[in-house]
Amino acid sequence: MNYKVAVIKGDGIGPEIVTEAQKVLDKAGEKFGFSLDYKEVLMGGASIDVHGIPLTDEAIADCKASDAVLMGAIGGNTSTSPWYKLEPSKRPEAGLLALRKALNLFANLRPAYLYEELKGACPLKEEITEGGFDMMIMRELTGGLYFGERKTIEENGVRKAYDSLTYDENEIRRIAKRGFDIAMKRNKKVTSVDKANVLDSSRLWRKVVEEVAKDYPEVSYEHMLVDNCAMQLVRDPKQFDVILTENMFGDILSDEASMVTGSIGMLSSASLNETKFGLYEPSHGSAPDIAGQNIANPIATILSAAMMLRFSFDLDEAADAIEAAVKKVLEDGYRTVDIMSEGMTKAGTKEMGDLICERL
Ligand code: NAD
Repeated sequence: MNYKVAVIKGDGIGPEIVTEAQKVLDKAGEKFGFSLDYKEVLMGGASIDVHGIPLTDEAIADCKASDAVLMGAIGGNTSTSPWYKLEPSKRPEAGLLALRKALNLFANLRPAYLYEELKGACPLKEEITEGGFDMMIMRELTGGLYFGERKTIEENGVRKAYDSLTYDENEIRRIAKRGFDIAMKRNKKVTSVDKANVLDSSRLWRKVVEEVAKDYPEVSYEHMLVDNCAMQLVRDPKQFDVILTENMFGDILSDEASMVTGSIGMLSSASLNETKFGLYEPSHGSAPDIAGQNIANPIATILSAAMMLRFSFDLDEAADAIEAAVKKVLEDGYRTVDIMSEGMTKAGTKEMGDLICERL
């Protein structure tokens, strides 16, 4: 099989880490009998330098014409880069927001996985994390409070601000279906998180999730209030498989979940629409402070590439193999500087890519 992948290398460490991810993908292709055609697309600072704007219509069209998008990261040093002297709508990050919108990417997935070898970086007590944990936070990305009507008024000399939280049943249904589909590829458990004891939008969320659950008899599901979920994530993270939640709750919980894994250079992510199409990128930024030095950790991008194989191309076996190769490299004691600890062997960006390829 052949797939078309739009590649946005981006800025800062972006080109270095995406190059390693492509190397690993090509190696996986040789082994598992698929090939990828890459189309390089400019976005962020790299696009500003060439076109004067962070995202062109042509770039959007190239992404739409692909089966998936693989991205590094965009943006520069926000204090010193000339990109940040431009008006906000012309800065690098505006390109990413516009692309997410143009591609209708409503479902954001962020795995939080604790590697046995990196558990020293986890801030939780060992008795809580014994045996590791492996969860997927599935966050609705285009609705809710962040997209609702808002205004600030003054009444009798008192300032007053409004933000509205709205979801319709179709928005809830499509993300819930995605959540249950993903649970089917994992441990078949969904925890739907809401605030149904207070919010109408959450009560509708609960009803629609229950309707969707009927189509997935193999998946067990539960409802959990968001305040309880925030506690459970640090009390007993092992209980979770897929956490399905709305935009703002997901924003907060996904950061909490990623913090308990301890390392930013390891965290992958995906944003999906209603089809198999998705945009895959590491959770971290473009790290301009370490760009061009061959020291950035490429693993988050490599794991994002594995997610692309799993969720956009249904190449689960190849995705499993990449994830296993990453685990093996860590077991063999190789570390980039951000995850370095005593007694381990230091590897640069390129070496880390090579070591993972060797273990595929
Ligand atoms: P950042 O994630 O780029 O960096 C934070 C810290 O983590 C830095 O010390 C950096 O060196 C380190 N780090 C990040 N990724 C690493 C990796 N793979 N290996 C080793 N170390 C790594 O966040 P920031 O410094 O706040 O932002 C830098 C730029 O990235 C800004 O322009 C910001 O807007 C942009 N940004 C882009 C995205 C995106 O493209 N989706 C996301 C977040 C931030």
